[in-house]
Amino acid sequence: MAPAPRRTEPLAFFKHGLGAKELDAIAAVFAGRILTTGDTVLDFERRFAEYLGRRHALGVTSCTGAMHIALIALGIGPGDEVITTPMTFVATSLAILETGATPVFVDVEADTGNLDARRVESAITKRTRAILPVHLYGQMCDMRALREIADRHNLRIVEDSAHCVEGARDGIRPGDLSDAACFSFYATKSITCGEGGAVVTDDDGMAASLRLLRLHGVTKTAADRQREGYQEWDTVVLGWKYNLSNIEAAMLLPQLERIDEAWQRRETLAARYEERLRRVPGVSLPTTRSGVRHARHLFTVWIAGGRRDAVLRELCVAGVEAMVNYRAIHPQTLFRERLGTKLGDFPHAERIGDDTISLPLYPALTLEEVDEVTSVLADALYSVA
Ligand SMILES: *Cc1c(COP(=O)(O)O)cnc(C)c1O
Repeated sequence: MAPAPRRTEPLAFFKHGLGAKELDAIAAVFAGRILTTGDTVLDFERRFAEYLGRRHALGVTSCTGAMHIALIALGIGPGDEVITTPMTFVATSLAILETGATPVFVDVEADTGNLDARRVESAITKRTRAILPVHLYGQMCDMRALREIADRHNLRIVEDSAHCVEGARDGIRPGDLSDAACFSFYATKSITCGEGGAVVTDDDGMAASLRLLRLHGVTKTAADRQREGYQEWDTVVLGWKYNLSNIEAAMLLPQLERIDEAWQRRETLAARYEERLRRVPGVSLPTTRSGVRHARHLFTVWIAGGRRDAVLRELCVAGVEAMVNYRAIHPQTLFRERLGTKLGDFPHAERIGDDTISLPLYPALTLEEVDEVTSVLADALYSVA
């Protein structure tokens, strides 16, 4: 391949697509009376639930918080075990620890990085209460297999769907086969309001619990007081402060209108990456299973042979921003100290964590930029061989 031209400024890993529509939506909230959780949040929740085909959606401040209260709503706490993956952002396991329960890691599929359903049953004990899978990079886990296991052992399922809003597998979508699915609208996610999240469920009782748990466990909200005047209220359970505000919901609404268009664009860019990278020696790509509609949150390459960090440095020198999502989390200090996990415990997750690089992927990226990134990557591989 021809050498890539030198850049004057770095090619961004991520660019949000927020602009005039989001500013107008925020201005409309400013013109109203309620900045915190109110009608704009309700509107977002209705449309987000509709998009996913769920009965209920609740706006919260983060995916971490969403997972925390979803587990609490299911009665999970001290003494309980929750089966999850070490190939994820630490938040997945932190949410489990925050309830007082214990994460139990199961290794991932070597070719996708997703929780390996075939390994789950051997990790189940008398204390196991739930499974918390992560749809890594945007590809859904085998939810049918996980549902069957959960049914056999009377377990709950909460999905970490931070990477997967638009995805599906054999027609199954987030929340279809679980008690709840949790989403992130953090700064680099496919739809974003800087910081935010949502939890969806088809269960009316679960939705009612989540509503209390996301706002102090109190029976009236600020919007209720503004609408109805002061009425006596009660604190009925120990809740948290996880409610989404109207300002954040305003940013999300226009993005929801173009969500499939943005997904389609990322799909086109990902197809271009795959076409170009297939010819580059030393690069392997995660497998996309048949029947999967990949949400295309991250575009991931795996670089074997201990060359990942050197390749990352070369990309940086060439002005291409790239990330590591993720190193396996079980050797990190907190998990070593709390769970006794160590390097060597989950070889597939560790191998992926050692090899993985996330390349730029967002609607404003051009096909020419994809070609440039692949050229720079090929050069980097050549020079660190
Ligand atoms: C971003 C992310 C989270 C955390 O989301 P927040 O909204 O920042 O709490 C959790 N899990 C995964 C897989 C993520 O990528």
